[in-house]
Formats: sequence, C-alpha cells, structure tokens
Amino acid sequence: MKIISILGSTGSIGKSTLSVINLHPEKFKVFALAGFNNVDLLLEQTIKFKPSFIVTKDLVSKKQLMDKLKETKLDTVILYGNDGYSFIASHEEVTTVVAAITGSAGLISTIDAAKSGKQILLANKESMVMAGDLINKICSENNSTLIPVDSEHNAIFQVFSNNSDTKKIKKVILTASGGPFRGFTSDMLASVTKADALKHPNWSMGAKITIDSASMMNKGLEVIEAKWLFDLNKDQIDIIVHPQSIIHSIVQFEDGSMKAQMGLPDMKLPIQYALTYPRRLKNTFPRFDFLDYPSLTFEKPDFKAFRNLNLAFDALAKEGNAPAVLNAANEVAVARFLNDQIAFVQLPDVVEYALSRVSYQSKPDLEAHLESDKEARAFALEF
Ligand code: NAD
Ligand code: MG
Repeated sequence: MKIISILGSTGSIGKSTLSVINLHPEKFKVFALAGFNNVDLLLEQTIKFKPSFIVTKDLVSKKQLMDKLKETKLDTVILYGNDGYSFIASHEEVTTVVAAITGSAGLISTIDAAKSGKQILLANKESMVMAGDLINKICSENNSTLIPVDSEHNAIFQVFSNNSDTKKIKKVILTASGGPFRGFTSDMLASVTKADALKHPNWSMGAKITIDSASMMNKGLEVIEAKWLFDLNKDQIDIIVHPQSIIHSIVQFEDGSMKAQMGLPDMKLPIQYALTYPRRLKNTFPRFDFLDYPSLTFEKPDFKAFRNLNLAFDALAKEGNAPAVLNAANEVAVARFLNDQIAFVQLPDVVEYALSRVSYQSKPDLEAHLESDKEARAFALEF
C-alpha cells in the first residue's frame, strides 16, 4: 500500500489526485494533506480521507480549521507553514509525495521529499525549472524517484517505461494545445483580456498555469522540465501545436520510429499512471474514440507572437540561474496580470527585463537559486 502526502491537495491536481485515490481505497492511504488557505475544502477532504496530518498556510488558518475540526470526532494533527510542508514531505511513514503546490513555493517541500528518499509524483514543474539539476542530484543521492504528472512528461515517461532503448532517443516532441490565443498575431494579443486568457479550450486548471498556457510560457517551462527529467539537450526538444490535446507527447528514436501516448485531455489519466506505476489499473474514465475526432491537426508554434517560447529556450541554453530567473519573473508577471497591473502582451517584457537585470551564475547551489528567485521577483515588480 502506498502511504501518501499530497502537497497542494486543494488545487486542481490535488483534487484530481484524491478522486483517483478514492477509486482505489485498498491501494492508497492518505497520510497527510496540505492546502493553503482554503480551509473549508481542507476540512471536507479531511473528513473524507481521514489523514493523520493536515497543513495550512499560517496560524490564523490553522485556528480556523481547528475550530471546525472540533465538531468532528477526528484527531487529525494540524500543522502550518513551511515546517508543516517539510514535515509531511519527509515523514518516515510516507512512501509517496504528490508535489502539487503551484509555483516556486513548491521547491523546498519537493527537495525535502527527495532528501528523504520518497517516490515523488511531480506536478510542480516550477521546482524542476528552478533547480532541476539539484533535484536530480538529491534524488540520486537519496534513492528518491521522480514520476512526472505533467501530461506531456507523463506521456514520455509512459513511452520510456516500456522501452529498454532510452539511450537511442533522437528527440522528444512536446505537444501544445496553443491555448485560447492560438493563431493570434502580436497585434491581436494586444487587446486580449484577463477573462479571455482564463478560458482554456481543453483543460481545466489552476489560474497560474492557465495564464501560462495562454502565453505559451507553460510550454517553455515544460521544455526545461523535460530537459531535467529525461536528460536531454535543447536540440532534442521540439514543440508542436496540436489543438485537440489528444496526443500528449511523442518520442522519436534514432531509427526514426516515433511512439506517442494518447488519451482525452483529463489529468486523472496521467495522475493514475503515476500513482500505480509500473502497473496499470482499470478505470471508468471517459475514453478517446477516433471517430469523435476525425481530424487530429498539427501546427508550427509561433515564436514571434509568443515571445515566451524564445525566452524559455534561451534560458535553457544558458542554464545556470537563468531558468530560475525566468520562472520567478514569470510568476510575478502572471500575478500582476491577474491583478490588472500589466497587459497580456507585457508578460514576456517583464521576464525579459528580469533576465537582463539579474546577474548570471553558471553553477548555482540552492542558496544561489533562492537568491536569484528573490532578485528576479524584485525586478519583475519594478518593471
Ligand atoms: P492550483 O492553483 O489549482 O492549486 C495549487 C495548490 O497549491 C493549492 O492547493 C494551493 O492551496 C496550494 N498553494 C498555492 N500557493 C501555495 C503556497 N505559497 N504554499 C503552499 N501551497 C500553496 O494549481 P494546479 O493547477 O493544481 O497546479 C499545481 C501544479 O501542477 C503547478 O505547478 C502546475 O504547473 C502543475 N500542473 C497542473 C496541471 C493541471 O491540469 N492543473 C497540469 C500539469 C501540471
Ligand atoms: Mg503540461
């Protein structure tokens, strides 16, 4: 039985993970849940899954939850803040940690899980973008394994997990839906609104990743995530726009053969594979039918209108602290866009500005990554 801590249980990935776990109660035990300030949902999840520990944002939310929990007969221990996240990510009873916090806020708990030799189901791509080299090193030193949840990376992982020839890869091709603004020119992007950007055509996700999908930064982050997860160089990673989001990514081998993973755009499928790997379990999720999709189509990504793609490939080529700067500046840019402080077309401007201001470091350790993150945020706010 897997004993699981879910960091970010109240988010889109967290909720889907719990709904998969709920289908297989004999295989999984929820040991701990961590939300942030959504106390009501954490309470509901606690009553349903009876974890030993729950973690909230701060003392205020802990007290709110304590009052509500008193009315139940549960003896769940409530923790809060970073110490709480670290505690449940590294607890000796835990076998598996679902890293589903959004943004660089998920980095330290992911590292704690890696240091403790856990199996990590990684949704939090930002931690890999920030410090993928470091996380890989900590995982290999502590016998910790990373299983990607991100649908593209889970697709590649599914291809690799049945293939002994993983060294014979020519390249991986990440598919992108193109988001709500597929086909838009730079001029058209100049007048899009927040409501437009929050309307993803295929996926229902948290606000940050939804904006990243609209600006194509999500794909940029995923290119960097793929580099570290699968030990690729930048010339081995391509992007193809595939508006139907049925093919979740493709691996091309040296002989030209290509293998892909397909399915409806529903995160429950990659989440279940990550939870049950290396086995597959039956489920009743809706299935893909070719006849419902008589044409699957493909387009070249538009690097001119979606400048974030260039910024991400550049950061990947530079390595060092460039990806951490890109990521932090983008987090601030997205927050500012959601607060109506900048326009959609300014998202890449903010990132570019921070990249030009933070001094480059070629071999950052964790402290340097965190410092770069802080500096990039300050410049992104200054913009
Ligand atoms: P979300 O916004 O729906 O949920 C985020 C979760 O993190 C919530 O539980 C929230 O309470 C918690 N959280 C937010 N800020 C926090 C902080 N500072 N400290 C601790 N906890 C905090 O986001 P999501 O869509 O579930 O995405 C989560 C992660 O998974 C992101 O890294 C995203 O890129 C990745 N991902 C999501 C999807 C998807 O379909 N939603 C797909 C692929 C990858
Ligand atoms: Mg993805």
